[in-house]
Amino acid sequence: MKIASVIVDVPSRQTDRPFDYEIPAKWEEVLQVGMRVAVPFGTRQLQGFVVDIKTHSEVKTLKPIEAILDVAPVLNEELLRLGQYLTETTLCFAISAYQAMLPAAMKAKYEKEIRLMDETYRKQLHPSVQQLFANKTAVLWKEIEHTNVLSRLQKDIQNGYLEVVYHVKEKGTKKMVKYIACALPKERQNEALESLPANAVKQKQLLALLFSAENGLPLKEALEQSGASHAAVKALIEKRMIREYEIETYRDPYEQRRFAKTAPLSLSDEQQQALNAIVESVRANEHHVFLLYGVTGSGKTEVYMQAIEEVLKRGKEAIVLVPEISLTPQMVERFKGRFGSQVAVLHSGLSIGEKYDEWRKIHRKEVKLVVGARSAIFAPFENLGMIIIDEEHEASYKQEETPRYHARDVAIYRARFHQCPVVLGSATPSLESFARAKKGVYRLLTLKKRMNENGLPAVNIVDMREELRSGNRSMFSRTLFEKLQDRLHKGEQAVLFLNRRGYSTFVMCRDCGYVIRCPHCDISLTYHRVQQRLKCHYCGYEEPVAHRCPSCESEHIRFFGTGTQKVEEELTKLLPQARVIRMDVDTTSRKGAHERLLSAFGEGKADILLGTQMIAKGLDFPKVTLVGVLTADTMLHLPDFRACEKTFQLLTQVSGRAGRHELPGEVVIQTYTPEHYSIELAARHDYETFYQKEMLARKRHGYPPFYYLTLITVSHQELTKAVAVTEKIAAYLRGQLSKEAVILGPVASPIARLHDRYRYQCMIKYKREANFTEVLKTVIDRYQQDIAQGELQLTIDTNPYMMM
Ligand code: ADP
Ligand code: ZN
Ligand code: ZN
Repeated sequence: MKIASVIVDVPSRQTDRPFDYEIPAKWEEVLQVGMRVAVPFGTRQLQGFVVDIKTHSEVKTLKPIEAILDVAPVLNEELLRLGQYLTETTLCFAISAYQAMLPAAMKAKYEKEIRLMDETYRKQLHPSVQQLFANKTAVLWKEIEHTNVLSRLQKDIQNGYLEVVYHVKEKGTKKMVKYIACALPKERQNEALESLPANAVKQKQLLALLFSAENGLPLKEALEQSGASHAAVKALIEKRMIREYEIETYRDPYEQRRFAKTAPLSLSDEQQQALNAIVESVRANEHHVFLLYGVTGSGKTEVYMQAIEEVLKRGKEAIVLVPEISLTPQMVERFKGRFGSQVAVLHSGLSIGEKYDEWRKIHRKEVKLVVGARSAIFAPFENLGMIIIDEEHEASYKQEETPRYHARDVAIYRARFHQCPVVLGSATPSLESFARAKKGVYRLLTLKKRMNENGLPAVNIVDMREELRSGNRSMFSRTLFEKLQDRLHKGEQAVLFLNRRGYSTFVMCRDCGYVIRCPHCDISLTYHRVQQRLKCHYCGYEEPVAHRCPSCESEHIRFFGTGTQKVEEELTKLLPQARVIRMDVDTTSRKGAHERLLSAFGEGKADILLGTQMIAKGLDFPKVTLVGVLTADTMLHLPDFRACEKTFQLLTQVSGRAGRHELPGEVVIQTYTPEHYSIELAARHDYETFYQKEMLARKRHGYPPFYYLTLITVSHQELTKAVAVTEKIAAYLRGQLSKEAVILGPVASPIARLHDRYRYQCMIKYKREANFTEVLKTVIDRYQQDIAQGELQLTIDTNPYMMM
């Protein structure tokens, strides 16, 4: 008897292990590791993943598998192992890891169908299968699941004659196209044509057309070519001379677009050197991680594309990750233009059905290259030759729900498995990556020169304290205002950035720019209005709100934060003639709104684009000659140890936006702390000095990349419960971890209450802890009952990016 080990779909600690089931004899040859099955579990029927097939089990009486949900494995050996790696490193349940790797359509309720790929294959099917498909192009899975043709069917699927299609119970999931084909055998065709009445000219033309189209034609096309009407079709169907059927086609979101074919550019010396290093690793089948560090516009994308060409030439596949917001039509166009139909695109703007279609193209090896956002890292390729992560510093590569993985780690895991290179690209690499490159763990490749000779735009830093002193209380400095007026006169465009309004506010002196920080953690203290106190969200330190600036004694010390709406109001007051497009969470929540607003701006329908950092990337408009940052400080003072790094990245990114084309660009950065190194060095485009300064600060306060961080967040409807549990966890950790580890908290989370639940957290800073994972698992075990009952929520993030 054969036995399957199955991971069942119950995300809990007790069920987070394989359960054994008997494989019924009829499925012994069919079932493979990586397929999904339905199994009895307690009184329910559950879905699960087969992770092992064996001949012996410790369990005496095994229940049989009830249904097979896939005909071919949906997870290959490598992805199954990757799932285990994710459970270890992110402390998620195996089932969550496996589900994260598959398109959502496969989690939904669906019905399965086996479909003939193409009429030409009908004759090649195994006779017993042919019988099944007589007069049909598809059969329902549930009709054949328990028959003995299953293994034949499976072979025909492997041969590419048949395919499995999931009908998700979601509107518009499958896109069907009507086809018609001649239903007569060759020898009866002429006879049939002659039997038609002489005046049925159109019917004759249509039928003759179908004689020559052995595989049938899309109805629309057949009508166009023959000039026949629907009535003619109907008449011929009634005479049983032709038949009508439907074929599912892929929804291609880019169908309407034509992509001009592009050829590789001849590379600069710097580009060539970078490419050579990558290509060498591809050719030698060696795993290396390259950090391609090059300013915006230095031609990184061209290097990626030529490296991909090499990979494809060797018959291998590649994954390109780009941040969701950079996945603009322009970006897609560059890859589609070079690689045409070999490219699949995966991003969150696609419907569930569209994503599933793209996934299937990969699974069936119809494409060789995937360009996509974070989750595209799980593309089920089996012969990977390279993984590229563009803008590798972007926080969106970290998933903020279970499994809390970072795409960079997954990329390195997969590339090591396939012995192929990973290329991380950025103008402002994350400190972690640059530090690894400096240590020689990654290989550093540098592009210093911009492709267009314009050089980087001039950056003006405006001291808002000065503005206040000279009586300007507006949120626009005189410099910025004058430059805006000037652009309006010239008919050029401007982009204004307002960093996302803080979810928390900090207190700043408007006279001297002083911000009150935690004496222990070097992060800004958060203002709590009700208690009139300032609190540290890392360690819990607190103090009363000051009414005078501790630095200059000024009374102009107050909390800080402005929304985009307020800026828009003031803008229309000051420049009533300006046409403004505002982009923030409110104006872009509808599907497609983001792109619509951007293209309106691109078409010159507005003079000023105002928005949060969501507009910082992928903006490439020839007429933009001015970029303004209204309050560089709001991001600088987030209660996050990466606040300086994020500020530097954003400002550098933003400065790279202006003047990418013929017209020279200018940047204005408004700030109350012009002397801060993040701001000063971003204005000078000096990444390396920033890196050195920031590394010193991280070292001094014990943050990554010198220490590891883990954030534990507890939430409960009752405040006292949330506090008590967090305290117990902190105490337990203090007892278990070494003296070297620091446990901060418990403290209220920066977002102290969310969906009627109170949130408390504690943070662990550590360097080396032998039993770290085990200790954390014990914590989860201890509270699993409360968690299962839904009262308590416990999240453990072993590499936190969102400090909320
Ligand atoms: P990055 O990805 O580093 O921002 P891009 O690859 O977008 O840079 O290159 C910026 C511009 O320079 C693009 O318009 C690109 O077509 C052009 N470019 C890149 N490499 C070359 C080259 N070798 N010769 C000419 N133009 C190039
Ligand atoms: Zn002051
Ligand atoms: Zn603190």
